[in-house]
Amino acid sequence: MARWQALVWLCAAAVAAAAAAPRNVTVTDNDKYVVANGDAPQVADVELGNRAGVLGQAAQAVGNAFVAKGKCIVCVAATGLIQSKVKQGATEQEVAATLTEQCKLYRVQEPAVCDGVIKLFAPEVVYIVNHTNLSPSEICSYAFTDDCGDEFDRKHDWKVPLPAGPKPDVQPENTPKAGAPRLKLLQLSDTHVDPHYKEGSLADCDLPLCCRASSGPVAAGKRTAGPWGDYGRCDAPVKLLENTLQHIAKAHPDLDGILWTGDLQPHDIWNQTREESLHILRLTTDLILKTFPGVPVFPALGNHEAVPVNSFSPSSVKGRFSMNWLYDEVASQWSHWLPANQTGLVRRGAFYSVLFKPGLRVVSINTNFCNDKNWWLLLNSDDPDQELHWLVEELHRAEVAGEKVLVVGHIPPGTPECRSVWSRNLDEILFRYESTVSGLFFGHNHWDEFQLFFDRTNPDKLRPYAVAYVSPSVTPYEKPNPAYRVYYLDGERPDSTYSVLDHDTWTMDLKAANREGSPQWMRLYSARRAYDMASLTPASWTKLVRDMATNDDLFDSFYRNYYRDSAERPACDNQCRRKILCQQLQGRSRDTAPCQVCLGGWFEGKPGKFGNRWVGRPLAGIAKNTAHKLYLPMEISGENVPEVSVKATETSSTQEPEPEPEVSSTPPSPPSSSANSSKPGMVLMSIVLAFSSAWSFGRYL
Ligand SMILES: [Zn+2]
Ligand SMILES: [Zn+2]
Repeated sequence: MARWQALVWLCAAAVAAAAAAPRNVTVTDNDKYVVANGDAPQVADVELGNRAGVLGQAAQAVGNAFVAKGKCIVCVAATGLIQSKVKQGATEQEVAATLTEQCKLYRVQEPAVCDGVIKLFAPEVVYIVNHTNLSPSEICSYAFTDDCGDEFDRKHDWKVPLPAGPKPDVQPENTPKAGAPRLKLLQLSDTHVDPHYKEGSLADCDLPLCCRASSGPVAAGKRTAGPWGDYGRCDAPVKLLENTLQHIAKAHPDLDGILWTGDLQPHDIWNQTREESLHILRLTTDLILKTFPGVPVFPALGNHEAVPVNSFSPSSVKGRFSMNWLYDEVASQWSHWLPANQTGLVRRGAFYSVLFKPGLRVVSINTNFCNDKNWWLLLNSDDPDQELHWLVEELHRAEVAGEKVLVVGHIPPGTPECRSVWSRNLDEILFRYESTVSGLFFGHNHWDEFQLFFDRTNPDKLRPYAVAYVSPSVTPYEKPNPAYRVYYLDGERPDSTYSVLDHDTWTMDLKAANREGSPQWMRLYSARRAYDMASLTPASWTKLVRDMATNDDLFDSFYRNYYRDSAERPACDNQCRRKILCQQLQGRSRDTAPCQVCLGGWFEGKPGKFGNRWVGRPLAGIAKNTAHKLYLPMEISGENVPEVSVKATETSSTQEPEPEPEVSSTPPSPPSSSANSSKPGMVLMSIVLAFSSAWSFGRYL
């Protein structure tokens, strides 16, 4: 939505450039852009602004081009424009001023947001662009993989080496007997507390974050911020966070530990300062510390902790762009719970490993190194700060020591915004250490969901081998009710699996709280009971996804929980349903194969191609279906039979799955290059990318 606006605006500028320098970019009779000079149009000798007439025509042409060719054309053209601007010798300030002027002229956003976003992003973008030798098409393929292809990923592929030697045999599930000890863990995520939340302020504003005194005048009939929060673009008032923590402490005095998966700051991405970010880090840490004295807490770093948002440079970057300002304070705050020997790691890259119980370790990873909106990956996306190398070493040590490991992080690795290269490497690591990793816990998405990982050793079979739990958010930003999760794990006993046996999600009705004066927290559902699951094995979760494809009531129940029964949740049509179900099957980012395998023709929106009548059908009969690529539904005869035969035809076993546009809705991001050449022409483009990404604040979780 808003990202489109920004692109159209950029596009207008780009077409103005084209009009002035048609030798490089041509507008054809069909109003489609043709890049005449390979993949890096040099739109030179163009001035930004002061060309209202040209820009008006340009906007029209660009609009047509946009529709016809999509974001990729726009991106490459805009990149050329940026190059030319910088080649004219524009300084960082001049570039930022021009962008700000255009942003306001074309009303891409509110003036204050134009000022704030460009001011925040411009310095690092200029730095990054001046230190990369990526071509415009590479940058665009990084930023808009869905539209521009995977050029960046192909050129910047990498692989974390795994130890030689065989992987330990996977042992059958060692289910604890009734009455066996359990571990009870809280997951608290995406609190996004807003100290400037103001009751009675405008809740329905045009800014990325509302419910503040600065949100605008409250006219008659306008929606206003309630005392406990609002379902719009509003984050959690401090009193909501305090109430949540107090309720948890009272309802769950027997917690064994807390998994705290990040995103503490509000969504005022155009208006952030380092001081404010650190203030909220301290404020939230103090509240947790005070409310849960003596309870072990295992934090992970969210993408909103950085200023500007998503900006996490590797430790090799020194000076004003170094992460020291954040990581030093994070190390200090986390030291309340972490041993001193982990401080160095936290200060280096905000990840760590601690022994929680004898035989149980918690490893926290910094997933901001996979975030496609982290522009520092343009300089080096190859396992920044060697985090995944370190993870392999930690898991290997744990394997040798006979320990189980819980992995916590912020961005779930299967979300499209997690770089597919990073995600694939993590998947391979998790698969190698399948017998060691007993739980995966993430946040960021704000929805109540999960992600499944598949063993693909045999190309004709997929075996679900792990499930990552994705916790609901405390913030009601974008319509869910506030929520938190409680997990029950196999506890301390000989040969404990330390796997998740069940989980409860708790919520409160925000609308009722605002009406009645105080929140009434309640257990919304227990996973096994709500979804009639005998266990929470990866195979059971996979079966649930398949069942939800054909069972309307079951999916409705899942979708209700997805929003924590928020009365304001939007309707979910078949397309929405397919997207959500496929997301649950994507532990590996942008990999739609499990969706196609598990959901078959139903995945492709062809009713009647999926269902029980497919299961067990003669393969030869299914193979006759050549109208679209053939992906057979996965057969699961029981949740204790995780390996599923999908072998069908020569066709299905060798073909690459067709891309599924509905699934990968999130734009891509940065590639890596350790280049040292200076390509100043990239400056504006990077600003543009950062700028446009800022416009996707609606999905900036
Ligand atoms: Zn996040
Ligand atoms: Zn968030």
